[in-house]
Amino acid sequence: MISLTHYFCPTLKEVPREAEVISQQLMLRAGLIQKVSAGIYNFLPMGLRVIRKFEAIVREEMNRVSGQEVLMPMVIPASLWETSGRWDKYGKELLRLKDRQDNEFCLGPTHEEVVTMMANAGLSSYKQLPVTLYQIQTKFRDEIRPRFGVMRGREFGMKDAYSFHEDKECLDRTYQQMSQAYERIFQRCGLDYVIVDADSGAIGGSASAEFMIKAETGEDTLISCPNCGYAANMEAAETLAVPMGVQEEGPQEKVATPTQRTIDEVAALLSVSKDQLLKTLIYHQGDVKQSICVLIRGDHQLNELKLKNHLGWDQLQMATDEQVLALTGTQPGFVGPVNMAQNLPVIADLSVQVGAYYITGANEVGFHLKGVQIGETVSLHQHIDIRNAQVQDTCARCQGGQYEISRGIEVGHIFKLGQVYSESMKAQFLNTNGKATHFEMGCYGVGIGRSIAASIEQLADEKGIRWPKSLAPFDVDIIIANMKSSECVNYAEKLYAELTQSGVETIIDDRSISIGVKFKDADLIGFSVQVIIGKTYEKDHCVDITYRLNNTSVSVQPEAVLRTITDYLGCD
Ligand code: ATP
Ligand code: MG
Repeated sequence: MISLTHYFCPTLKEVPREAEVISQQLMLRAGLIQKVSAGIYNFLPMGLRVIRKFEAIVREEMNRVSGQEVLMPMVIPASLWETSGRWDKYGKELLRLKDRQDNEFCLGPTHEEVVTMMANAGLSSYKQLPVTLYQIQTKFRDEIRPRFGVMRGREFGMKDAYSFHEDKECLDRTYQQMSQAYERIFQRCGLDYVIVDADSGAIGGSASAEFMIKAETGEDTLISCPNCGYAANMEAAETLAVPMGVQEEGPQEKVATPTQRTIDEVAALLSVSKDQLLKTLIYHQGDVKQSICVLIRGDHQLNELKLKNHLGWDQLQMATDEQVLALTGTQPGFVGPVNMAQNLPVIADLSVQVGAYYITGANEVGFHLKGVQIGETVSLHQHIDIRNAQVQDTCARCQGGQYEISRGIEVGHIFKLGQVYSESMKAQFLNTNGKATHFEMGCYGVGIGRSIAASIEQLADEKGIRWPKSLAPFDVDIIIANMKSSECVNYAEKLYAELTQSGVETIIDDRSISIGVKFKDADLIGFSVQVIIGKTYEKDHCVDITYRLNNTSVSVQPEAVLRTITDYLGCD
């Protein structure tokens, strides 16, 4: 019998101080996880049961779309990452280590390199394709800011799948199937999700989409158009040029702004709206010899990721105050684009209008310029979409709707990699004409712990966790209100046996503690069903049943208990 008396589930009354978000607080309080180090956690028995349930759903859905399960090593030789070119590119998230012979390795943050070599060694002909391989395994990323518990850990579980194809059409089909498999995974968990266009990030490739669980505490900002349904991560959301308000035209004129450096300060001093000003920003690629000047309207935010992707740079760094001084001869806050093109290429966002007049820094401490005409005194090297979308922007796709903004937690990410890895790693097969051809590849990830945390984030209430039925650590918690009553204890044990026999995962709360604590723990941990055997049973021979998901209760005769519960759980 699984009894809470002996179950290793140390629940906490107090909210741990370091816990910032609900899911993290509740996972710690409900005894699901324990912190070992920053971003590194123990999963305790109750937590691991939830993990295993989610993994089982993921596994079923991967197998349904012909995925074949494999297991790759966590420790990966540097040579593989050197072949793909990512050893130097991946940066500090990659935890690098050496063995006793001084050979370099990394802890796998993702497995494109290993799987490409594996597939290449075993696939030689188009006749074998397509093949989809997946694993459920621990990843390590030395995140700069591990936080929110297992939501952004350093060591975390991921299901990662990789598909190999003879052509793009075949990749497109598997990508679609995977997208549907992901939808089924999150539907089976009863979660409210959206699919958004995404940036491909460090993994590379052409198209990618993210699966987002809608939640206020989500780290990602989502843009959506209610008119055409376009939805994108803010990182990737397209924008159009937006017209500026009524503008003041030239001539170009110097104005004193002795202490005003920021857009807000200058706009306030000159009594103009922020869209009349331009921010001038200096960036480089890690080495100041390759610097650029970026122009963005005062009321807009630069999207560094879009800029980095447009430039095709591995890294994009904002110049320090000293570097700005060395490059422009003036201090940040007073830098402007006039005459800049002689030193640095000038890249402007689409909403910086050619022919329009703006207020910019004067390249002289204590001064700004009015009437700076873009295209005249300032020539542009590139004029591209590099800003963050904003609420009420006109949709870049349908040009009819206006953007709305919401927040989400990224739980899954699917990519069309194309031939990025098969080319760099020389992975080929013989096509129908007998010609050696690089594989078309896709890759598909789901965060295991993060999905669990996201589910809590979306469904928890003030009392604790509410699990979707498919994820609850136990279906039923039999709460014995009075341990001194042998009638109650005997009935509870009989019911435990009946439920277990019917395949209902049951735990029995036979702790010699107050009934109030038992109720609090049951609500906190979030078992799907609470069966209370107490006064009602002793007095009226009735059993109280509470459903945690909607917090409703029914009182039924003992002979109807099993049926009522199995009906609710959807068992036979
Ligand atoms: P993020 O933008 O949140 O850092 P990512 O884009 O780096 O995530 P992917 O490389 O797409 O993540 O990884 C696939 C999945 O792995 C993500 O969708 C997410 O669910 C999960 N994941 C990624 N990083 C972490 C992390 N640090 N902790 C927990 N889960 C993670
Ligand atoms: Mg991602």
